[in-house]
Amino acid sequence: MGNRRDLLKTMALLPLAACTSDLNKMGGGDVQKDRPVPVGWKPPGGELNLQKVKIKKVRAITTAPYGTGLVIVKVETDQAGLYGIGCATFTQRISPVVAAINDFLDPFCKDKDVTQIEDIWQTAYVSSYWRNGPVLNNALSGLDQALWDIKGKMAGMPVYQLLGGKARFAVDCYTHASGPTPGKVMDHVEELKEMGFRNIRIQLGGYGSTHLSKEPDYKRYGYGKETDNTLNAQAYKNGVIEIFKRARKRFGDEIEFLHDMHERLEPMDAIDMIKRLEEYRPYFIEDPFSPENMRWFPKLRQQCAVPIAMGELMNNPHEWVDPIANRWYDFIRSHISQIGGITPAMKVARLGEMFNVRTAWHGPGDTSPVGHAANAHIDLAIWNFGVQESQHWKEVVFEVFPGTPTVKDGYMFVNEAPGLGIDIDEEKAAKYPLKDYNYGWTQVRKPDGTPVRP
Ligand code: MG
Repeated sequence: MGNRRDLLKTMALLPLAACTSDLNKMGGGDVQKDRPVPVGWKPPGGELNLQKVKIKKVRAITTAPYGTGLVIVKVETDQAGLYGIGCATFTQRISPVVAAINDFLDPFCKDKDVTQIEDIWQTAYVSSYWRNGPVLNNALSGLDQALWDIKGKMAGMPVYQLLGGKARFAVDCYTHASGPTPGKVMDHVEELKEMGFRNIRIQLGGYGSTHLSKEPDYKRYGYGKETDNTLNAQAYKNGVIEIFKRARKRFGDEIEFLHDMHERLEPMDAIDMIKRLEEYRPYFIEDPFSPENMRWFPKLRQQCAVPIAMGELMNNPHEWVDPIANRWYDFIRSHISQIGGITPAMKVARLGEMFNVRTAWHGPGDTSPVGHAANAHIDLAIWNFGVQESQHWKEVVFEVFPGTPTVKDGYMFVNEAPGLGIDIDEEKAAKYPLKDYNYGWTQVRKPDGTPVRP
């Protein structure tokens, strides 16, 4: 915490005008200088005519530089050198998203005015008549984010400026600690705390602590697949309570602790576990119920004061409007490419502001670095930002995606170049083709073989 205290102390001493540049030196700006950054597009002759820029091509690029399959949309315009990129990553169903982009959005967008983001979003959204699925929303997100990227380049401003400008100096993040035993989880927390993280998600093993159930009855009877995971609800619940108990004892109130239930328990088991966690003051507990069980939220809210996060599986605005308006949860966890991009995410965020529901956008490894940049630009600009899930990127990510946001002292910093500040090196991306997708983590059963919803 020393670093953070020093940082805050220094901030208080700095005159306002000096604050931004000095903070860049201390907290990420110097990191950015080491990275190749895309050169912001400048209009020929310095003249900008917004009416003349048309979309020429919308195409999908796939790559897997760290093993996870990513889909990026590139939107090219009739102006040489002016293009944008966006995240359309739906790892579990890549080829249908690619087809939606190349076969439908490309001809749909041809010769449209690149500046009309809202019009393009609304018309593309209903162009299939049936809408709101993860495939079409991800394709639409790739297009939408790329249009915001282009608009930022045309304006010579980072996207967060177009969204209203900074409401905070950087994006407060959380990261993940896990391990097969409570002791190993605590050691991992210690390591991340040393790196400067103030918010840490703790998991005993993978989601549902399925490593605690190795030889379930269904496998002895030859039911299901050998690779299926098994949930023992009581072992999982007791394990989570144990890691929270140890975490508070060892770290006091120095760290905020989070946990992702990933919807795997029966509703009353979920309520029981969250009530028992209340004394350890979680920052939030994520996804206690599956989207099929939304009506259990009022019962949970009546019984304890644990902050709740929800929403990474949601596609359709009707899934979040009522829960936000009824304050069934405290943090909205939408996966921004899943709901259609920056345009709808800003509407979700503004709706949340009206009800004091904060954002905690989904930020796993299967959101591309471009998607992380989009998350961070929104995080910087909205008032009701809560916390951002972040990744520890390998070096190859910065090679394939120059300008990827950096994390230092537990804060995420965007590249300050115009647009989203991130690019894709297509030659390097091509060196990392897609691999077969592993469905293992979504395949979970109870000891009798009943499928569990992840
Ligand atoms: Mg989650």
